[in-house]
Amino acid sequence: MAKNKGRKILLLPGDGIGPEVVSEVKKILEWFNKHKSLDFSFEEELIGGASIDANKIPITDEVFYKSLESDAVILGACGGPKWDNLEFSKKPERALLKLRKELKLFANLRPAICFKQLVDSSTLKPEVVSGLDIMIVRELTGGIYFGEPRGIEPIENNQRKGINTHSYTTSEIHRIAEVAFDLAKKRSNKVTSCEKSNVMEAGVLWREEVQAIKDKLFKTVELNHMLADNCAMQLLRNPKQFDVILADNLFGDMLSDEAAMLTGSLGLLPSASLGAKDKNGKIRSLYEPVHGSAPDIAGKNLANPIATILSLSMALRYSLDLDKEADQLEEAVQKVLDDGLRTKDIISKGKKEVTTTDMGDAIISKLK
Ligand code: NAD
Repeated sequence: MAKNKGRKILLLPGDGIGPEVVSEVKKILEWFNKHKSLDFSFEEELIGGASIDANKIPITDEVFYKSLESDAVILGACGGPKWDNLEFSKKPERALLKLRKELKLFANLRPAICFKQLVDSSTLKPEVVSGLDIMIVRELTGGIYFGEPRGIEPIENNQRKGINTHSYTTSEIHRIAEVAFDLAKKRSNKVTSCEKSNVMEAGVLWREEVQAIKDKLFKTVELNHMLADNCAMQLLRNPKQFDVILADNLFGDMLSDEAAMLTGSLGLLPSASLGAKDKNGKIRSLYEPVHGSAPDIAGKNLANPIATILSLSMALRYSLDLDKEADQLEEAVQKVLDDGLRTKDIISKGKKEVTTTDMGDAIISKLK
């Protein structure tokens, strides 16, 4: 019987270059179904501006429920100038916020991988970033972006005060720490947890609770605690010292953008957002490239599909338990880069420029 029979993948291409890059993912899924005895069923639905044009809303209930029932959702990108003048609550990007919120996606995983073939795209010295492979695990639904009280209020002497509250509970820290430790076990078995326990009580709690989970459930994983500002500095000084970096919503936001820049191009960066296990043990998940809809190059067959293809490889690994196939796909990407094929965003002297579809085809040819 086919491995993985009946697993459902929902493809949400969205807007701009979204349909172009997701189309390459679809070709790869078809290839896996044909050649690897896998049996994915996959469907494609509208989201974002494309859904607004067809249905007047950024995501319909039908698509939303399909995403709840899927084993993995792979999204292209939402938004573009055509919908920029809509009021905030009606914009294409609302679909994404709704999915993140309703699927309770509390863990954001952003790998920062610097392919040795592309070290020159980074602003850092080649020896600092070559072969870099780190994973940032960012808490996504708590902390200062959501804490209460919040707001701007008038105070005496015609002044105003801006207030945000940074708070985390034990269980919020435990569930994100478990994601980081589980991931580390599949990688180099090392977690660096970041906070500001020197100046913040919430940071002290973060440090203590991460340590408690490690001592209780993950005795064999190495854990280091690091102040978040030091981590920002170490990421530039010696990024290869890290394996998994665990951080809250605020520090994770900054550290993951910093780590992304180590690698060079937006067109190469995948991401995953994971939720809690449901009663059947299934983890809700959303996989998407870090980039947006790139309206400046949309429809021109110029977009780099690698970020979205690597998002599929994360889905294979984290939602579908297909580590071998994920390795195979990542190796295929490496081989194509070894051959010197580059989309326009990562082209350099002596390399061959290819289109979005050429890049997808070349990666498939290396799967064979
Ligand atoms: P963007 O990521 O779309 O583009 C930034 C630059 O990077 C552009 O020059 C673009 O051509 C280039 N680029 C991005 N992805 C590329 C790829 N795969 N291959 C080659 N070049 C690539 O960011 P932006 O211009 O700030 O935003 C454009 C639209 O996308 C906006 O409407 C924004 O709201 C939306 N957006 C959506 C998401 C999402 O859906 N998750 C994320 C970010 C931005």
